[in-house]
Amino acid sequence: MTEPFLSIVVPVYNEEANLKKLYARLTKTLSLTKQPYEIIFSNDGSCDKTPALLKELFDQDPQHVRVVNLVRNYGQHMAIMAGFEHVKGTYAVTLDADMQTPPEELPKIIEKIQEGYDYVGTYRLKRRDNWFRTYVSWIVNRVRAYVTHVEMKDHGCMLRAYHKNIVTKILSSHDKTTLVPVLAYTHAQKYTEVGMHHASRENDKSKYTLYKLARMNFDLFTGFSLVPIQLFTFAGLIICFCSSLLVSYLLIRRFLLGAEAEGLFTLFAVLFFLISFVITGIGIVGEYVGRTYQLLQSRPPYLIRDVLGGKEPHKASKKLSAFKG
Ligand code: UDP
Ligand code: MG
Repeated sequence: MTEPFLSIVVPVYNEEANLKKLYARLTKTLSLTKQPYEIIFSNDGSCDKTPALLKELFDQDPQHVRVVNLVRNYGQHMAIMAGFEHVKGTYAVTLDADMQTPPEELPKIIEKIQEGYDYVGTYRLKRRDNWFRTYVSWIVNRVRAYVTHVEMKDHGCMLRAYHKNIVTKILSSHDKTTLVPVLAYTHAQKYTEVGMHHASRENDKSKYTLYKLARMNFDLFTGFSLVPIQLFTFAGLIICFCSSLLVSYLLIRRFLLGAEAEGLFTLFAVLFFLISFVITGIGIVGEYVGRTYQLLQSRPPYLIRDVLGGKEPHKASKKLSAFKG
């Protein structure tokens, strides 16, 4: 296989503390591997010095660097999608700007690309995040494997390579999902994954708030599976069966023992449980309805303000850009 041209796509949100170091480490690694490459920074509406630093990097190395500036903050995965619109390479490689997955791990991915895989995923060998993130993510990865049948060890490890055919399919699917690794899996023909070292975030904190994390996980489960709603129906049937037994039992007692005033608090407890169950159900239905509603509206998922260094968009994104105006 000839050397594949790599388009490194880096979503960036308020990463002024990391950018220069990232650029230095990334270009060093890429030049060592003698790989033809470009780096696309997708600036996700940063409000610190990130835009100025990216312009500096572009002026310094216009042959390799391009910058896609989004109008506001749309989230990591939308920023990746915007970056994908501009890839020119045979493979798009996503990488986080905070270097938690070290850029020096890139050769492991390149090796797999050379072996002919169209999607190379990764997993963190030893995760260096706080215990809450680590365990929640461990659980989510397991539940996701069961619920969506997407067989990957760790969808949160973002140093990944996608063949341009997958990128084209992702862009033309207009999927509203916010999880690129899982979406790519549904389009991949030959998937593999490799273990990656993981470092703790050196500068500042994670850009994910608890709300953003919760939203992303809701999107994951409702975007790739109907299991949540099916489970709900199933649980509803079981509760219906159990409550019919309870009603029969209470009726029999009524006739045998006469009127009873006991069990008032039990009744409240059962009632509160059922009400919360129904509200949860409405919420789950709402997630699916909201998703369908968004699809029907066909509003652009993000807006690109400008691109530094070649505006030529990806073929599949022409339709997308057309309706963005
Ligand atoms: N990021 C982004 N938009 C956001 C949040 C994050 O583009 O709204 C970028 C961020 O700059 C980084 C990557 O996504 O390059 C991963 O973010 P972070 O390291 O904060 O996530 P975590 O490691 O906590 O999952
Ligand atoms: Mg990180």
